[in-house]
Amino acid sequence: MSLEQATGLRAVIAAAKLCQAVRNVMVDNGPTKLDKTDKSPVTVADFGAQAVVCKMISDQFPSDAVVGEEGSAALREEKNVAHLEKVVSFVNQQMPCDGDSVCQWIDRGAGQAQGRYWVLDPIDGTKGFLRNDQYAVALALIENGQVQWGFLACPALPNAQTAGSIFVAQCGAGAKMYSLEGDDLGSIRVSTQSGIAAARLAESVESAHTNQGLAAQLRENLNIGAEPVRMDSQAKYAAVARGDAEIYLRSPNSKTPDYRENIWDHAAGYLVVEEAGGRVTDVRGHPLDWSQGKRLENNIGVLATNGLLHDEVVNALAKLLS
Ligand code: AMP
Ligand code: MG
Repeated sequence: MSLEQATGLRAVIAAAKLCQAVRNVMVDNGPTKLDKTDKSPVTVADFGAQAVVCKMISDQFPSDAVVGEEGSAALREEKNVAHLEKVVSFVNQQMPCDGDSVCQWIDRGAGQAQGRYWVLDPIDGTKGFLRNDQYAVALALIENGQVQWGFLACPALPNAQTAGSIFVAQCGAGAKMYSLEGDDLGSIRVSTQSGIAAARLAESVESAHTNQGLAAQLRENLNIGAEPVRMDSQAKYAAVARGDAEIYLRSPNSKTPDYRENIWDHAAGYLVVEEAGGRVTDVRGHPLDWSQGKRLENNIGVLATNGLLHDEVVNALAKLLS
């Protein structure tokens, strides 16, 4: 196992455990209780997950940049001392730390999206995390505009053996599934379904994050009978990669037509689907361009499929979008 693979896998395992620990106390009455009605569980888990992943990458790859979604500025404010203490208590379950080290580790995530860098979404699908639905810890390594590694931990996505799943892909070398403990569960492949009418389409639960109306029209035009599978986070990519769905469509919502996707919302999931034999482009069929910094500036939405159905969906979308 390469150092990249071992480190990436260990990092998302630690982050996933931290997130699950936070979720487990959300409804408890203990001293660490977090109020589910405000955003505190999400932010405690977000900061904690970013801290542990950044620390583990820094230890092994001190000169690599990390581009993470969070920064420690708010945590360092006097009024948020209690919040920082909670983050420290959860990070401590994974590795020894104090308030200063946690903030420093989080800020390792302020790197530039240039050359070789790691991209991290410490909790993708925050709404799902709060709803006790799907969420993901998503980590990828990008080198010169190519996604080389993808690590996608989906703590609430069961497989035949375990309650949560981790997906790891290396560019050119395939995709595998692991348990949350890091046991190798073997290679994964996209579905072999070539009949469009039998396709299963995955999309966001949150209607603000995609155009659900467009997806409904697409299903109608292609005679797709099944209801859409709605899931939060990059777990949608995992569903396509292991054959639970054939299509993941994300087209900008009509209220945010100029929205450009964040690289941390897609890099890990993209590689997992491609390496499981699928295809990922934007909604026009254009390749995703990872060379534009923190956003996919040259792309509109994303379309991931099992490959066999890709051109048919792109053609149908072209008619609907014109
Ligand atoms: P999902 O769980 O697939 O709905 O996606 C969650 C992600 O949607 C978050 O990480 C946000 O970065 C992203 N997001 C926020 N606003 C929008 C928007 N208007 N369009 C598309 N994605 C968005
Ligand atoms: Mg996200």
